[in-house]
Order: sequence, then structure tokens, then C-alpha cells
Amino acid sequence: MADEDRDVSQGDHGEHDHIWRDLMTGVHPKLREGRVVFKRLPGTSRCKLCAVPFDGIAAPFLRAFMKKKHARKNPFFCDF
Ligand SMILES: [Zn+2]
Repeated sequence: MADEDRDVSQGDHGEHDHIWRDLMTGVHPKLREGRVVFKRLPGTSRCKLCAVPFDGIAAPFLRAFMKKKHARKNPFFCDF
């Protein structure tokens, strides 16, 4: 059987599946480190995934230098 014919419903997605699962559940080590830093910045609305503030005093700097802003299709997440 060719690779493109492989049944992906079996859950065999390799290493990428593991990384994406960790990112989306918020347990990836790099994501957790970022959340610790961003949660210390003042702001009332934050990205649900990485906790970057969308308002407050740090928001303009994050938008300008880190390109952290609301995602175009989902305002609860940043455009990472
Ligand atoms: Zn984010």
C-alpha cells in the first residue's frame, strides 16, 4: 500500500500528531514557558492558547515587534 493510501483514521500520524496534541492542549513545554511570561503582562483580554494580552500597555509593543494580534478567523486566539 502506498503512503498516500494509508488510513489516517487509525491515529498513526507520527511525531507531528504528538506535537500538535501538546500545543492544542497547552502542555507543550515551550508554550508553557511563553504563557508564564505573557501572563505577567497587564491586559484584560488574552489569547486562549499563549496568554498574550490583546490590550493594555504591552499590547502595542507585542503587535509591533512580535506580530502578536487577534487571529483573523478567531478572535480568541492570536495570529501566531
Ligand atoms: Zn496565542
